[in-house]
Parts: sequence; C-alpha cells; structure tokens
Amino acid sequence: MENKIFDAIVVGSGISGGWAAKELCELGVKTLVLERGRNIEHLKDYPTATKNPWDFPHRMQEPKAVLDENPVISKCYAFGEDTQHFFVKDKEHPYIQEKPFDWIRGYQVGGKSITWGRACQRWSNFEFSAPQRYGYAVDWPIRYEDIAPWYSHVERFAGICGGKDGLEALPDGEYLEPFEMSAVEQEIQKKISTHYKDRFMVRTRWAHLTKPEPIHLEQGRGQCQARDLCTRGCPFGGYFSSVSSTLPWAKKTGNLTIRPHSVVHSIIYDDQKGKAVGVKIIDALTNQEVDYFAKVIFLNAACLNTNLILLNSKSHRFPNGLGNDNGLLGKFMAFQNYRASVYGTYDGLKDAYYYGRNPTNPIIANYRNLHKQDTDYLGGFLTFVFSNRSPEFRNNRNQGIGGDYKDSLTEPGPWRAGMFMQGETIPKESNHVRLSADQKDPWGIPQLITSVGYDDNDDKMVADFLTQSAEMLEVAGLRDIVKNDTHQAPGLDIHEMGGCRMGHDPKTSLLNKFNQLHLCQNVFVTDGACMTSTGNQSPSILYMAFAARAAHHAVEEMTKGNIV
Ligand SMILES: Cc1cc2nc3c(=O)[nH]c(=O)nc-3n(C[C@H](O)[C@H](O)[C@H](O)COP(=O)(O)OP(=O)(O)OC[C@H]3O[C@@H](n4cnc5c(N)ncnc54)[C@H](O)[C@@H]3O)c2cc1C
Ligand code: SF4
Repeated sequence: MENKIFDAIVVGSGISGGWAAKELCELGVKTLVLERGRNIEHLKDYPTATKNPWDFPHRMQEPKAVLDENPVISKCYAFGEDTQHFFVKDKEHPYIQEKPFDWIRGYQVGGKSITWGRACQRWSNFEFSAPQRYGYAVDWPIRYEDIAPWYSHVERFAGICGGKDGLEALPDGEYLEPFEMSAVEQEIQKKISTHYKDRFMVRTRWAHLTKPEPIHLEQGRGQCQARDLCTRGCPFGGYFSSVSSTLPWAKKTGNLTIRPHSVVHSIIYDDQKGKAVGVKIIDALTNQEVDYFAKVIFLNAACLNTNLILLNSKSHRFPNGLGNDNGLLGKFMAFQNYRASVYGTYDGLKDAYYYGRNPTNPIIANYRNLHKQDTDYLGGFLTFVFSNRSPEFRNNRNQGIGGDYKDSLTEPGPWRAGMFMQGETIPKESNHVRLSADQKDPWGIPQLITSVGYDDNDDKMVADFLTQSAEMLEVAGLRDIVKNDTHQAPGLDIHEMGGCRMGHDPKTSLLNKFNQLHLCQNVFVTDGACMTSTGNQSPSILYMAFAARAAHHAVEEMTKGNIV
C-alpha cells in the first residue's frame, strides 16, 4: 500500500519548494513533495538543449496557431518553439482576469526554476525597512541581518556568480567569479561613475557556475559554457534549478518522495486538534481525490497558487480560508514593474567584440528613495544594462539576398546598448485575488480571479526611469536613443508577490517572522505569497533563503515538541 503519512509535505517542486525539500530531507525529515505537473529529470528531459536553430521545424518561431491558442503564455519572452514544453497551455489552466493579468506558469517538477532568468541580488535593509520608513504596506518582521546567513547558505550551494562591490543598496554575498562586462558596458560604467556620485553599475549576481566549487561538482554540475540557452535546461548543470540541484540532493538522503501529477486542492484542518493535519490532492491522471498527512506543511506552489490553495482550505474554524481571520488573504498583491526600457547606438569601439554568449547582464543598483524620499513616487527600481553587436542592427538588414547577404551576416554590426527596469510596486488592498463562486478548473477547484493593476505611482516611476536612463545613455555617448513603455499588463514580470504577507501583528498580516501562519503554526509559506513588499531586487533567491530558514525552524519546533 502507498504510504500516506510523512513528517512533512511540501506543495510545489519549483525554486522555493526544492529548497524546503532539500533542507527538510537533510535534517532527517521524511518529506513528500506534491507537484501538479509531470516529472522532469535533469538531462534526460531537456529534449531541445543541444539543438541548433535549423533543427526546429519553424526555426524557433512559434506558428500562428500556437500563438492564437496561447495568448497569455506566448507573451513571455522565454516561450518559444525550443522551450514551450516547460510552460503551461493557456486553455488547460483557466483563470479569470477581472483586470488584465498575464499569469506565466510552468507546471512540472522544477516549476519555473527551469526557465527562470537567474538574476540573484540580495535585498538590503533599504528594502526591508522601506514600508516602515515611508508608511506603506506593513513593517517587515525581519531585517537584512536575520536573513543574511541564509542568503549565504543558499548562495554557496546554488552557486551564484557576481562582483563584490561594497554597496549599501546591493549587499555582497558568497559569489563565484563574475562574468566580464562587454567593452561598451565598461564604457557606460566609466561614464556613469564619473558623472553621477550616487549611481553604481556593477557586474551582477546570477545563478551560474563560472567556477564550480567542490559542492557543485558533488551535485553533478559543471562550469557554465556561456551558451545562453539556459531556458531549455542546461546539459552542464551550469545554472541553478531544482531539478539540477536541490531535488536530486534531497533524493540522495533517502528521505524524499516526489509525487508528480498531484494537484493540491486544499490543506486539511482538524478543528478538534486545532492544526493542519494533511493535504488533499486530485490525481491529475485519474481525477481521484487522495489525502496525505504530515506534521508540517510547506506551501511553495508559487505566489498565486499558494493564495488559491489557502483560500480554498475552508473548515469550520476557518470558513474564509486557512488562517484568514483578518480577511486579508489574497489582498495586498503586488508585482514588479518591467514596463520600460531605453536603448541606443554606440559608434565607437568597432575593434572590440565579445566571446561566447554571456547569459548575464550588469545592473545599476537602485538609486531612488534610499536615505530619504527624493521622488514624487514611492519605491525604487533596479536597472539592467545590456549590449551586443548584431548584424541585424545594420540599416540594410533586409535589403540583401543570397551569398552577399549571408556574408554580411558574418560581420558584427554596430554596438547597441540599453537599459530596462525592474521597479517596486506598492502593495494595495484593492489589488487582490479571490476564488470564483461558480467557475471551476478541470479538477473541480474554484478558478482564481485576478484583480491587480498599475497605479499613478507606477506611471511616475516609469517616467522617471525613462528620463534618467536616457540621460545616462546620452552621458555615455550613445546616439538615437529610443524610450519605450510597453504598458504591459502585470504578471508578465513573473515576479508576482503577496496575498499572505509576513508581519508582526496577526491583525494585519498572515505570517510571522518564520513564515508560519500566525493562526496555524504548522503551515509555512515560503514562496512569493509571503512578501510584505516587493522591493526592487529579483526575488527568487529570497524565497530560497526563506524556505531554508523556515525548514530549519520547523525542525527545531518539532524537536522541541511545539509542532507534533
Ligand atoms: C522567463 C522567466 C524569467 C525569470 N527570471 C527571474 C530572475 O531572473 N530572477 C528571479 O528572481 N526570478 C525570476 N523569475 C521568477 C522565478 O521563476 C520565480 O520567482 C520562482 O520560480 C518562484 O519560485 P516558486 O517556488 O514560488 O514557484 P515555481 O518555481 O513556479 O514552482 C511552483 C511549483 O508548484 C507547482 N504547483 C502549482 N500549483 C500547485 C498545486 N495546486 N498543487 C501542486 N503543485 C502545484 C507548479 O507546478 C510548480 O512546479 C523568472 C521566471 C520566468 C518564467
Ligand atoms: S549559458 Fe551556461 S547555464 Fe546557460 S545553458 Fe549555457 S552552459 Fe548552461
């Protein structure tokens, strides 16, 4: 008979679930990972990893029929003929957009860790203290010092490359050698540091093994070859994903069971015992309901699905969703603002080129609203910088044909460089998700309604980013600078956060400082749902750190007999 009783259950096997599982298993906890999608094995299940463009029937372009059938997911820059098997099909996973929201999902073992962009900056105390200093959302119940050792713990194992720059707004970590900037990026960096005293462009932090350490080789991973084909899965294990790193590591302990095709329906709360006792799933292959039981439950289904599961976990004690006495579950949703970019052409450095395809970008650390409120909007933004020399930038790109045209493609074009933003958005009660009263998904689970939008604060930040970034490119000597605001819907940033926020007070938050539900302390939420505010740094490495820290706390609590 199949075992239904474990010490811990982790819902979701992506970036944060992989970390929860690894830590729990290493600490001797028999752990069941419930994953709604199919199984993915590192190397074996990367069908396109070593293909050339001409090996694809449509040369990596999606046919119109695929685009028409997948109007949401096909907007994601990483979705293509070479990667579509790691993304959901829109029709199979319906949700209701009360306001436009592009919900980007990857339902498989590994979740979005297979296709993610891998940028990994640490939050600073500027982000952790901003809500308290400027009076938005609620105060974070932790500060940088609480999470810093866990960042280090995660960085050492995952392998993050980056520079050590000594910046207050971008704390240094345990980094492997960074990728070098291109010649034009170095030029931009030089000009910015001469012109602005408060702006710092650095070689930044990405989950790539530039120089693997023994702990990475022990995971069976090797050096990144700078091919920039990461979203297909890496045959070298050169970047961090759950399937290349945390899950196989957890498996080696003998304490891990992964159950794919398990759509979690809800958490089972026992009114008599006053605690969560297990998880109800719908088997995606048979449509059967199955219950699993454990002392501790980790929710890592990614922000919106974690909100959905909690809202759907109704009991006599919690008729509005687990832990939701204050009615705030699903509210104060936020995301990151990726709407704006600028780019231009650089005429010099014609004799400089680059080797390989650097899979990383330099960044300019946030320089807004740090020590004081210095703009007419709240929050800050981080700036990614990019550059390359593509033959396609030549004016006559489409004019050639035949041999001459092909020859011209072997010569580099002019330098083009630019910047794009990753901006904080301010959590508001009106930005929320809730369950549909009458529409269900194919597994009989209520569909999620998304009601999340931009506001004036975001528009002002976009305007400021465009002005400042265009000015920086100009200072750096670029010409023909183009400013762009895509006005894209929220969601496409793929950094949705909140709904089950951390805080000091159970009246105004759902989770305590160890990511436990205030009102049901054997349930931990360590994915984006826990975020009190969004900050401007890429968030996933913070979810990893939260998951590792919470797993250790859960085991301490079990050992002390506080969780039984
Ligand atoms: C193209 C792209 C680029 C990105 N770039 C970056 C970046 O550079 N830096 C960064 O920090 N972040 C980036 N992200 C975001 C990053 O991928 C997510 O923040 C991260 O994966 C979230 O981790 P998670 O564990 O919460 O969710 P996921 O990794 O999505 O894992 C959630 C898992 O839960 C499963 N699941 C969902 N619902 C259920 C259910 N009901 N029952 C059972 N299982 C369920 C899913 O199938 C999935 O496997 C990017 C994402 C994408 C797609
Ligand atoms: S760039 Fe590095 S991590 Fe990405 S696919 Fe190539 S070798 Fe792998």
